[in-house]
Amino acid sequence: MEFKLFKRNGINVCYSPVTMDFYLLDTKTLLVMKKIQRREKLSKEEKIKEKEIENTLIAPVRGSISSFDIEARTANYLQVLSRLTLIVTNDCNMRCKYCYESMNDVKYKFNFSSTMGMSLDTAKKALDDYFRVYKRIQTIMFFGGEPTLKANLIKDICAYINDKYTSGTIEQMPSFGIITNGTILNNHIIDIFLKYEFQVTVSLDGGKDDHDRYRILRNGMGSYTKVAENIKKLKERNIPVMIQSTITPESVKVDRDVYELSKQYLNKFGISNPHIVPAQFSDDVWSREVSELLQNEFTEGIQKNLDAIEAGNLDTVYPFSYMISILGALVSKDYKGIRCPAGFEAAISPEGKYYPCFMLVDETYDFSFGSVSTGIDSNHLKKMDSFIMRNFKSLNTECSTCWARGFCTGCLGASYKTGNSLDFNYQITCNLTKQMGEEIILYLSELSSVPERWNCFVENFKRLNATVPGKNETC
Ligand code: SF4
Ligand code: SF4
Repeated sequence: MEFKLFKRNGINVCYSPVTMDFYLLDTKTLLVMKKIQRREKLSKEEKIKEKEIENTLIAPVRGSISSFDIEARTANYLQVLSRLTLIVTNDCNMRCKYCYESMNDVKYKFNFSSTMGMSLDTAKKALDDYFRVYKRIQTIMFFGGEPTLKANLIKDICAYINDKYTSGTIEQMPSFGIITNGTILNNHIIDIFLKYEFQVTVSLDGGKDDHDRYRILRNGMGSYTKVAENIKKLKERNIPVMIQSTITPESVKVDRDVYELSKQYLNKFGISNPHIVPAQFSDDVWSREVSELLQNEFTEGIQKNLDAIEAGNLDTVYPFSYMISILGALVSKDYKGIRCPAGFEAAISPEGKYYPCFMLVDETYDFSFGSVSTGIDSNHLKKMDSFIMRNFKSLNTECSTCWARGFCTGCLGASYKTGNSLDFNYQITCNLTKQMGEEIILYLSELSSVPERWNCFVENFKRLNATVPGKNETC
């Protein structure tokens, strides 16, 4: 029997990693559960209680690979590819310190050893392959390097896909997205965004000081002023914009407040629900002390938001995507059986090799399955299948017994880059996720112990839900 016990403010809570339910415990039940945890001998009466607990906590296992029909899965994922990322160039006009100075390991330096741009011919062949294998591609994402350096190529690719749609070669037009550093958003590229209804994700790391510490141009100057100006320009043209923020150990030390950051983005740019994530540095860069500061900042951000929801002050709710994802999973019991979408999406490198995600474009370990020269044959699909199997939490030794497995989302790219293995779990985000999950479970449990507070919270949460935008296109 699997459970996790929490205690705060005199309230004892049990969380079931299997059903994702959580319960307030009376003293008697708590004592029995502690005895079970310590594997102590139970009295006759306690054994009856144990049976009751067992019946409550055990439900059909969710997210189990054994309950997964492989043929149905194959048929299904060949119907829909959630996202196809085209790395149109590995060149960049910036020299962010994440990529250049902080790390000695070549894997952290994303694609900068030599610059290479994708050709239109490569893009067309790759798209032909993917549209042949998949019935539908939900999103085409442009990524780099800095993808806006290849504005004409992006325009030609969009036109090529549009032609496929208007000629009936593909049934449904994908949506378009781009992840950009936001420094080169001239009218030419903005017209392309407008014509093809792009969602634009801009990297912005807080205010000027924080942002300019890491995100510098080739000439060594900070990029904040230009990026802020361009975000406003995009908003004026009614282009949907999301913000992706990277938190570094240095910014945590100067008290980066996640709630304040979300507030700042909403007040300054009118952008809600930013995707705020810790920089994927190795554990020695994220010391234990700094990781704890990071966790405190996120949990404080959650507390402030949940307090504001309970009080009905919805105009002071400044959610961030991490919180929304965990809260949503816990409230809806949406069990996440896989660690991340890699493999259910794909990426094309500038030279035309196919990968399970842009984060796994790496020559030292060949994650590729197919290329523009080989196409995608049955052997490539088998290779992709075995990659996808490694994504299931139930097949990962650590995840299969982790209490947070129901609501966490990992990143296989971060696992590989920080731990040299897809089976490794990046502890910075694992610990952060667990801490946030615990905070939400305890907060909701405390609320549920007072029906008036709980009812009020639920009503307000429903009102809020209607205003929070959907999932960010990044992950
Ligand atoms: S929190 Fe980490 S260890 Fe736990 S299930 Fe998620 S990825 Fe696995
Ligand atoms: S979570 Fe990471 S590895 Fe997985 S699809 Fe997203 S970026 Fe790629």
